[in-house]
Amino acid sequence: MVDKLAGMETMLSFEEAGEKILAGMVAVTETEVVDLEHLPGRVLAGDVTAGMNVPNHDNSAMDGYAVRSVDLAGTGEVRLRVVSDLAAGGYHSSILNQGEAVRIMTGAPIPPGADAVVIQEICRRNQDWVTVPCGCKPGEHVRSAGEDMKVGDKIFATGRRLRPADVGVLAAQGISQGRVFRRIRVAVLSTGNEVVEIASPIRPGQVYDSNRAGLKAALRAMGCEVMDFGIVGDHLATIETALERASHTADAIISTGGVSVGDYDLVRLALENKGNVNFWKVAMKPGKPQAYGRLGRAAFFGLPGNPVSGLTVFYLLIRPALFRLMGGGTWPKKMFQATFKGHFSKKHSRKEFLRAIVRFTVDGVNVETTGPQGSGILTSLSAANALIVIPEGPVTITSADRVTVWMIDDD
Ligand code: AMP
Ligand code: MG
Repeated sequence: MVDKLAGMETMLSFEEAGEKILAGMVAVTETEVVDLEHLPGRVLAGDVTAGMNVPNHDNSAMDGYAVRSVDLAGTGEVRLRVVSDLAAGGYHSSILNQGEAVRIMTGAPIPPGADAVVIQEICRRNQDWVTVPCGCKPGEHVRSAGEDMKVGDKIFATGRRLRPADVGVLAAQGISQGRVFRRIRVAVLSTGNEVVEIASPIRPGQVYDSNRAGLKAALRAMGCEVMDFGIVGDHLATIETALERASHTADAIISTGGVSVGDYDLVRLALENKGNVNFWKVAMKPGKPQAYGRLGRAAFFGLPGNPVSGLTVFYLLIRPALFRLMGGGTWPKKMFQATFKGHFSKKHSRKEFLRAIVRFTVDGVNVETTGPQGSGILTSLSAANALIVIPEGPVTITSADRVTVWMIDDD
């Protein structure tokens, strides 16, 4: 009874839990220099400023003829003398005189004196001469120097998680390496006397350790370094030792199992003995029992053992926290409205997250659940690309209702 009351006192809403967890996250400060090809997914540890104009010279956007637009100011056609043939990479250094044109390919620098390009489709070439229609404007089909990036422009700010196109932008600047925050080290351990190592024999009543496998994959997908602390039995001293060992090197520790109020739920106790527990109940389904706190310098996340609950809590609460630890700031949550198909009803007061499939169609965004939502049905999570967010209190939703969805894809 006493224990139950203590639990009630520390019951937090989902939002309160999210805020408290984030408030406890201190981003890593150590940095390292990484080659360009390994930069995607890493978090920049400094602003990047353009050291050069891109493009570095006015150049042609089309295949055609570089001209002086003043030569084509009249009406009808003009015959120009072709003084040079310029492919991309070539350079025409002498100034274009009145009545002259340069044959030019896409990307080639605009010769001095020229200020426009006439596309080849509307020109007639005859040996050293080309007939060009009048009426072209200055700057036509010209990409001007610095139109993409100008010297001194701030290209990226600290905290940006680099994407493939960003790496292209750095390469366009001739930058071959970037300074990023070091990867965060996340220790993962499973608890439970019934949990066994995958690929080993299994007896009735035992379960393979699906939690650790799923969590490790999710952590690696977001760019964390994983420290595998294996499976620990339901034995207080063993759990304490494992947590303490992990806290010496990890930035964060994630355990699964042992955080509810059953006789063998010892993780919370171990945390109380060796570190600090912040709270351990969140008004959400799945995932009500959780333990958060610190062990030495490591942030601690104690997830429920149930595989659906554990990973769901990871996506909703832990991933944004780790992202902040990585130096990435606010996790770019993808949350929006979609049209529900099906029927769902609940009476309880907790916020509920239904495993669901969001489909993007030309007629709009639709969502339906992945089927039975029992917390033991892990395939319902593997089939899902999103969670439907069902508010607190009694709720009934039916087809065509608009619902809030939260994408849980791994990018
Ligand atoms: P617990 O939170 O420790 O009470 O565990 C809740 C449920 O999740 C139990 O049915 C456990 O057998 C199951 N479970 C706990 N840990 C794991 C794991 N690592 N992999 C798969 N199932 C687990
Ligand atoms: Mg257990």
